[in-house]
Amino acid sequence: MLSTLARTKYREALHDHCGEFGIFGPGEQVAKIAYFAIYSLQHRGQEGAGIAVTNGRRVKAVKKLGLVTQVFSEKQLATLTGHIAVGHTRYSTTGGNTKHNLQPMTVTTASDLVTVAHNGNLINAHLLAAMLPRHARTSTSDSEVLALSLIHQKGQSWPEKIVRACERFEGAYSVVACTHDTLFAFRDPWGFRPLILGKLNGGYVVASETCAFDIIGATFIREVEPGEIIAIDKNGWRTVGKIEQRQQSFCIFEYVYLARPDSIFNEKMVHTVRRKSGEILAREAPIAADLVAAIPDSGTSAAIGYAEESGIPFGEVLIKNRYIGRTFISPEQHLREQGVKMKFNPMASTVKGKRIIIVDDSIVRGTTMKQLVTILRAAGAKEIHVRICSPPVTDPCYFGVDTSKRKNLIAAQMSVSKIKQYIGADSLRYLSLPGLIQATGLAKNTLCTGCFTGKYPIKVDEAVQKDVLTSAC
Ligand code: AMP
Repeated sequence: MLSTLARTKYREALHDHCGEFGIFGPGEQVAKIAYFAIYSLQHRGQEGAGIAVTNGRRVKAVKKLGLVTQVFSEKQLATLTGHIAVGHTRYSTTGGNTKHNLQPMTVTTASDLVTVAHNGNLINAHLLAAMLPRHARTSTSDSEVLALSLIHQKGQSWPEKIVRACERFEGAYSVVACTHDTLFAFRDPWGFRPLILGKLNGGYVVASETCAFDIIGATFIREVEPGEIIAIDKNGWRTVGKIEQRQQSFCIFEYVYLARPDSIFNEKMVHTVRRKSGEILAREAPIAADLVAAIPDSGTSAAIGYAEESGIPFGEVLIKNRYIGRTFISPEQHLREQGVKMKFNPMASTVKGKRIIIVDDSIVRGTTMKQLVTILRAAGAKEIHVRICSPPVTDPCYFGVDTSKRKNLIAAQMSVSKIKQYIGADSLRYLSLPGLIQATGLAKNTLCTGCFTGKYPIKVDEAVQKDVLTSAC
């Protein structure tokens, strides 16, 4: 058990879902390639971005708060010369949106150096932090704890250090890291978050999602396996270590919301899974209506599936201002509500007098849907039937998604009929968990469904997890 003091000290933990990329590419413009790759991973994190490049002697990085296009200028990218680059887009929750927590993070000792980009969340970061040398930490990020745990690990070689460190890590970590001569890619043995390997000209690349490879013209080789450590250097790529296999637990929410529809995981395109989830929902929860519409863009693939299966025409009713970031960006409730209004405008002529089925991927806090139902009613909708292509989110995620507090989850506080009343819909139905699993085409025991069931693949100490690393030390 943690002491009260330790709890107070680690009161502000970070829960990220982030985008990451790495390239080993002698002779390539690695920084520019990394830029375009993380630009395509912008949906995985909009709070900050960074690229670090090594030329074999020194590491240079540009990191700032903001969107990828705001962070880098052509001139700055030109200063990042070398043969290995690591890039990151960051998305945090409570209190962690500071420049000190930006990635990639480079940590050093007198004789060593490693640069790390991390997607996930270490649930034992507070315990790992306690084992680090005093004053080693400079930020409140679990990713820095991860990086420091790697560099302070005993071992003859980097693969040995990584294996030893990973044996102590609990939680989600898909990591892209580099030393001066080698790029590493490794994934926790549960395989919570994605990580893929590809080829680009004479070099190799790793990324969170296949959409990054499409954009830079790389060829997909395969996924980094859960628990696998891959090294890439002038001799090519190879597996240099394996951590003991655990129950495979790929995050089902990657399919529901987090990933881009054109990305492919486990040989399934995200769009196809979402469309299938809409088809299944149309069978599970049919209703007579004039129009099936989506909350753009998160509900679009599923709404197309629902429309096709139900035979009710698909139509656009909400126009999205695509230049506003995801509504979750603003950490305070007040700003979040404003965000929804700024983001969607209804097309009154399409909405007026219609019975509308409105499809979205999920309801988390309930803010978005309540606002949109109000907006559609004001625009003259006759009936509004809400269909959600995932089960109610009843439990926090401890493995890298920003749904960390149960009190914020509407489905943890209210029944479905109460939520229906709260959002003001004429009907509300969610997709069943078996229906969602069926849509993925994957075996139930290979997926983490903790946010819908409260059953996690790793035992979680909720008291610790509500807290986080407050202070650097
Ligand atoms: P809420 O207003 O909290 O119910 O937000 C639900 C909306 O946020 C849905 O349209 C989802 O597409 C989206 N969403 C779901 N999970 C997340 C997340 N972890 N981060 C940001 N947005 C999310």
